[in-house]
Amino acid sequence: MTDTATRTAASDQRIEHFDVLIVGAGISGIGSAHHLREQCPDKSFAVLETMPSFGGTWRTHRYPGARSDSDLYTYGYRFKPWTGAPIASKDEIMKYLGEVIESEQLEPFIRYGHTITNSTWSSAQKRWILDVTRGDTGEHLQFSASFLWMCQGYYRHSEGHTPQFKDMDAFKGLIVHPQTWPEDFDYSGKRVVVIGSGATAATLIPAMAPDCSHITMLQRSPTFFIIGSNVNEVADMLRELDVPEEWVHEIVRRKLIADLGALNQIALEYPDFAREELLKPIREILGDDFDIDKHFNPKYRPWQQRIAFIPEGDLFHGIKSGKASVVTDEIDRFVEDGILLKSGTVLEADIIITATGFDMNVLGDIDFNIDGVPLDYATTVTYRGMMFTGIPNMIAVFGYFRASWTLRVDIIGDFVCRLLNHMTELGRTVVTPTLREQDQGMTLHPWIDPEDFNPGYLTRSLPFLPKQGDREPWRHSPNYQLEKVELAGADLDDGTLRYS
Ligand SMILES: Cc1cc2nc3c(=O)[nH]c(=O)nc-3n(C[C@H](O)[C@H](O)[C@H](O)COP(=O)(O)OP(=O)(O)OC[C@H]3O[C@@H](n4cnc5c(N)ncnc54)[C@H](O)[C@@H]3O)c2cc1C
Repeated sequence: MTDTATRTAASDQRIEHFDVLIVGAGISGIGSAHHLREQCPDKSFAVLETMPSFGGTWRTHRYPGARSDSDLYTYGYRFKPWTGAPIASKDEIMKYLGEVIESEQLEPFIRYGHTITNSTWSSAQKRWILDVTRGDTGEHLQFSASFLWMCQGYYRHSEGHTPQFKDMDAFKGLIVHPQTWPEDFDYSGKRVVVIGSGATAATLIPAMAPDCSHITMLQRSPTFFIIGSNVNEVADMLRELDVPEEWVHEIVRRKLIADLGALNQIALEYPDFAREELLKPIREILGDDFDIDKHFNPKYRPWQQRIAFIPEGDLFHGIKSGKASVVTDEIDRFVEDGILLKSGTVLEADIIITATGFDMNVLGDIDFNIDGVPLDYATTVTYRGMMFTGIPNMIAVFGYFRASWTLRVDIIGDFVCRLLNHMTELGRTVVTPTLREQDQGMTLHPWIDPEDFNPGYLTRSLPFLPKQGDREPWRHSPNYQLEKVELAGADLDDGTLRYS
C-alpha cells in the first residue's frame, strides 16, 4: 500500500490520509470501491458515508412499494449477476448491495455516520483535506486524500422537494413526503391524495390502494409510462438451458442495452409513433371511454423525461378497479379538508403525499475550496461529465437518466482507475482538467440540454451546475453505447488533462 500512514498535521490534529476517498456508500460508491480495489489494488482508500449504513437511495426511500424502474440486469453491476425478476423491490436491491459488500469484504473500508462538510485542496500538500462530523458522537475529524471520488448522488437525502402551496397550514390532515416516510405509517381506510405523477407516485399508488379508502393521483400535467411484464424471456430461456448466471447476466444486459438504444432512437426520430406505442397498452386497460389524452398524453416528446416502467400495468388496473383515480388540474390552495383545485373542485383528503421530487444536492452539499478560494462549481467546464476545469484530483459520478444509472458507474470506474494508473506511470500526483488554447472562448452550454432532458429538479439546478463545451472532451454524452467506447479510448495525454 502506498501512503497509508496516519499523518500528524502542524496543528497536531491527527489527519487520517488515504490515496483515494470515496464519498457515499450508495450504489455508485460501492461499485466504485469494487473497481478501485480490482484495478488499483495498491491504492489505500476509504468510503465516507453520512448514513448509518449502505444503500443511499435504497435506504432513504422506505415508502410502500419502493422499487426500481430500470431492469436490474443493467441497473446491477456488470460484475455481479442479477438473478431475480428484472424490476426489483428496494429490499432486493439492498440485499444485492449487501452481498457485494460481503463478498468483496468492503465493510472494513466504509466509515458510516461520517458527514463531510468541507473540503480544501492544498496545492502545497497536493491533497484534499476534509472536515468530517461523526453522526454518533458529534466529533469533528479530519481526513486527507490524494484523490476524491465523489459518489454523493444527485439529490439531498435529508428531505425531499415540496413546493410551497398556498395555505398548506390550513389542511387538518397529514402531509408526508415519500423521502421522509414515517415509521409504521398507518393509512388504512384513509382518503389519500398523491401530488405528482412521476415514478414515485406511480409506485406508491398501487401499493397503497388496497388499504386506503381511496387514493387519487393529482397531477398538473401527464407523464409517460411504459407498461410491461416483470419477466425477461431471454433470461428465462437461457436459464432453462442451464447457461451459467454470469453469461445470462451479460447476454441479457447486452440485449436490453441494444433494445433501449433502439427505443431512444425511435422516440427521437418518430416521436408520434413512440407516443402511440406508449399509450396503446394504457388504452387497452382503461378502455375507450377513459380520457387518455387528458390524463396520460404528455405535451413533451417521449424520453424528454425519464419514463417509469409499470410492471403488469398495476397503476392502471388500480384506476380501472376504482380504488385509485387520476385528476389532472392545478392546485389553487390547501383547505381544511383537502385541496381546492383551480377548476373549483375540492379533493377531500385525510393524507396528502407530496411526491413532488427532489432537491438537487451539488457535490454532497460540501463547501469546497481550492487553496482557500471558495469553489464556484457553476463556472467550471466539465471534462467528459466527470471532472471539471480547475478542480484537481477529483471525479464526480453522475449516472445516466434514460438508461440505468449504474452503467455509467462501471465505465467511469474503468476510466478513473486507468487515469490513476497512468499518473503512477508518469510519476505525477496531480491531474487538473484545463482548457487548451484552442478551447478558450468556445461556446458553453448548460450541464444538460433542457430541450433534450428536462425534469424539474434538473432544470431548477442548472444555474449551479458546471457547463459543457461545444467539443470533445468538454461534453458528456447521455448515450451509454457511445460513451463506453469513447471513455475506453480517451487519450489521457491530449493536453486537456494537465499533470504535475
Ligand atoms: C425511488 C427511486 C428509484 C430509482 N430507481 C432508479 C432506477 O430504477 N434506475 C436508475 O437508473 N435510477 C434510479 N433512481 C435514481 C437513483 O438515485 C440512482 O440510480 C442511484 O441510486 C444513485 O446512486 P448513488 O450512489 O450515485 O447516489 P445515492 O443513492 O444518492 O447515494 C449517495 C450517498 O452519498 C452519501 N452522501 C452524500 N453527501 C455526503 C456527504 N457530504 N458526506 C458523506 N456522505 C454523503 C449519501 O448519504 C448517500 O448514501 C431511482 C431513484 C429513486 C429515488
